[in-house]
Amino acid sequence: TKVPSITLNNGVTMPQLGFGVWQVPDDEARTTVGTALEAGYRSIDTAAVYENEKGTGEAVAASGLPREELFVTTKLWNSEQGRDATLRAFDASLGRLGLDYVDLYLIHWPMPAKDLYVETYKALEEIAAEGRAKAVGVSNFLPEHLERLIGETSVVPAVNQIELHPQLQQAAAREAHARYGIATEAWSPLGQGRGLLEVPTVVAVAQKHGRSPAQVVLRWHLQLGNVVIPKSVTPSRIAENIDVFGFELDADDLAALAALDEGRRLGPDPAVFNMA
Ligand code: NAD
Repeated sequence: TKVPSITLNNGVTMPQLGFGVWQVPDDEARTTVGTALEAGYRSIDTAAVYENEKGTGEAVAASGLPREELFVTTKLWNSEQGRDATLRAFDASLGRLGLDYVDLYLIHWPMPAKDLYVETYKALEEIAAEGRAKAVGVSNFLPEHLERLIGETSVVPAVNQIELHPQLQQAAAREAHARYGIATEAWSPLGQGRGLLEVPTVVAVAQKHGRSPAQVVLRWHLQLGNVVIPKSVTPSRIAENIDVFGFELDADDLAALAALDEGRRLGPDPAVFNMA
């Protein structure tokens, strides 16, 4: 399977579909990420707080794939915000991954009450200037946080990775990203497999195309222009989730799915989430 790429605002290309590894234990990450790489995934989304950078890095090394064909994302955890802690945390992530650069480094949450995200982002700019991250960006930033960041720093984030799926369509965030030239990356793109895949509209569109509900939801994201990083530890689902480039949703399908927006988060509210 050939996954199309999008071009980020600094010219770096990123596969539009990648593999998320949240909740994959470190000792299973090597096998699970290995399965994904064999299935054709070339982009992997991990984070320091997932505690599986080591297993992820081992899978990358064991794959024998040329480094430049892979796109590895990791994220700075909340407890490490602030310039010096960020630089140390980045080094530690690279060490666990066994890499000398990552493709994308993200601030995991803004934690506005701590008021450290601008300083933290400037440390990411240093990392990018050294070429140790090919692109830098953020996750869970609200439009107001992006606006402040863009006003006070020099590198527009390449990506904002946010919770996004048909039941949380994030129109305002997507509009802000388009305005600033920031790519929208959807986390929990399948709604964590909790309910969304049984919604009658999703099931009906899936039946119409002879595809699975998960494939329909991933197609919806791709046709909207989102980057997606579905997660599974089941080999058949890992393969199914990347087999989404041989069909297209039509205008009726897209309209039916657009009606599923409930504006309800599965995860925390970035305005108040401060867990360290
Ligand atoms: P997801 O929406 O990718 O759903 C994953 C779950 O859906 C699986 O555990 C499984 O139960 C089910 N599933 C997967 N494929 C399926 C299929 N083909 N058919 C039926 N069920 C299927 O949820 P996620 O793991 O929360 O999100 C994906 C990735 O996003 C994470 O692994 C992580 O990399 C990233 N993420 C980032 C943040 C953040 O704050 N930046 C937060 C959550 C997740």
